[in-house]
Amino acid sequence: MDKKRTWIDQSICIGCQACVEIDESDILFMDDNGLAQAKPNDAKLVESQMVCPTGAVNIDEN
Ligand code: SF4
Repeated sequence: MDKKRTWIDQSICIGCQACVEIDESDILFMDDNGLAQAKPNDAKLVESQMVCPTGAVNIDEN
């Protein structure tokens, strides 16, 4: 599965880690550049989206 329903816009991520810390599904992680990244997923990580201070966590509806 290559789809990422929840995905990170790394162009506006500031690497605060808040989304990763609240994500209990282990879908989100910090990559080697110190920015959040999402594994392929079909999840709606609403809590991670809500805690992101820059709006970098996106959730596709379809
Ligand atoms: S909460 Fe937002 S700014 Fe912070 S690491 Fe996650 S995506 Fe980046």
